[in-house]
Amino acid sequence: MTSTHSTLAAPAPEDLPVTEDFPAVDAAVARARAAFVPDLDLEARLDRLHRLEDLLRENRAALEDALAADLGKPPAEAWLTEIGFTLEEIAGIRKELGRWAAPVRIPVPLSLAPARSRIEHQPLGTVLVMAPWNYPVQLVLSPLAGALAAGNTVVVKPSEVSASVSAVLAELLERYLGDCVSVVEGGVPETTRLLEHRFDHVFYTGNGTVARIVMAAAAEHLTPVTLELGGKSPTWVDGSTDLRAAARRIVWGKFLNAGQTCVAPDHVLGTPETLAALEPELVRAVAELYGEDPRRSDSYGRIVTERHLERLTGLLAQIPAGDVVCGGRAEPGERYLAPTVVRSAPDGPLMAEEIFGPILPLVPVRSAEHAVELIRSRDKPLALYVFSEDKTVKELFRRRTSSGGLAFNAPLLQLSSPGLPFGGVGESGTGAYHGKFSFTTFSHARAVLDKPLAPDTLRLVYPPYRGLRTRLAAAALGRRRTRRRHAVTEI
Ligand code: NAD
Repeated sequence: MTSTHSTLAAPAPEDLPVTEDFPAVDAAVARARAAFVPDLDLEARLDRLHRLEDLLRENRAALEDALAADLGKPPAEAWLTEIGFTLEEIAGIRKELGRWAAPVRIPVPLSLAPARSRIEHQPLGTVLVMAPWNYPVQLVLSPLAGALAAGNTVVVKPSEVSASVSAVLAELLERYLGDCVSVVEGGVPETTRLLEHRFDHVFYTGNGTVARIVMAAAAEHLTPVTLELGGKSPTWVDGSTDLRAAARRIVWGKFLNAGQTCVAPDHVLGTPETLAALEPELVRAVAELYGEDPRRSDSYGRIVTERHLERLTGLLAQIPAGDVVCGGRAEPGERYLAPTVVRSAPDGPLMAEEIFGPILPLVPVRSAEHAVELIRSRDKPLALYVFSEDKTVKELFRRRTSSGGLAFNAPLLQLSSPGLPFGGVGESGTGAYHGKFSFTTFSHARAVLDKPLAPDTLRLVYPPYRGLRTRLAAAALGRRRTRRRHAVTEI
């Protein structure tokens, strides 16, 4: 099995003393811990969610500017995938929170009567939310909404790579939610120090290499983790589908945010005949969505840093010019990389790890079965997309593969359905969130049982066990007799 140990991670500073002093980090954690109220009522939780909504609504322009500075994100995309998306997520949680947070009565078996039992949802305490740079607003504030809904206090660590958004969020979260949220800004040294603290849950979104660091640090305190990771999300296309319509959707899903989307189609699998027919449709779709020169399009984003652009152009340099179907042009000064479609062998240089940029390899396979075989030989992906009208093909992918999510004929949309869990499996992540899944991720389901002292029905199980043993033996005998009777009936 191939493993996608990511080179996306920032290099760890070899000489960093782990014990280095970071009073601001320690103070942020101490403040969030001191602010925790174990029995925060529903009204106070709803108030926090309202304030989070106010933060987003009242500062839309500042957030859009920061997203444009970091990622060249067009305002419409900023709304669709970050600000508006998160507002919808919060509204959905707010609407249902009373129901989710209410205790759930659970019937007790007759042998325990009289007694009552219920499940109570408790906050975990103080949780850490660590976010990456590609959707730097949504991936901070959406898990934050779940954590606040469940009644926790939160330490937030935005990505230092999207520095403009990090600065804006630090200021806004302090202003709107400073009583329950602390923000730690900074890079590897600050995060390393942060992870030395004991949290009640760590919610990390990012690459698998850093996830291993996060999980190891959390293990020191037996802290549970949610890991929202990435990987290579394959897309199957076959001749039964409308290739023009499929191409438009694939191009949209791939080149949104300049390909820097964890659930973007990483590569396309298809038979050589299908891929040959798909190529011109992809070229047409790129022109339709981004114009003849996507560099001039106000709907196309930028690569987050020059370092990330260099990684991508380094990958492209390994592709022979004859295998570039469209795009390929880079402008380092602008952090621009054109929407690029290339031909690739299943074991080509683009198939080693998650691409996480606007390069779409078309990878020929013999059949749908061969595609399934290829997918199963690699890490379980975060998303799998199938473009087919053939029921047996759809069933084949549904039954024979495993992935965080599976979507037919539409990339990315599995994220937008609030009733669905969003998370990976295996190398693509552990745990899930969105909607009710966020609430349960950040809550502890506590078992509560209440039994009156009188009558003392527990006498039956108190030692000495002689009488009980006799009764149990009699009961067991009775069961055996019943079984035999059933056996006779069946005969
Ligand atoms: P990143 O570099 O911003 O890192 C994420 C977080 O880890 C940041 O807060 C950063 O400060 C911290 N960090 C980085 N190096 C560290 C170290 N050595 N020690 C401790 N902390 C460290 O983001 P990234 O990892 O490059 O993000 C891209 C990856 O995230 C891709 O693999 C993508 O697929 C994945 N992703 C997953 C999801 C999801 O929801 N499943 C969403 C977005 C991105």
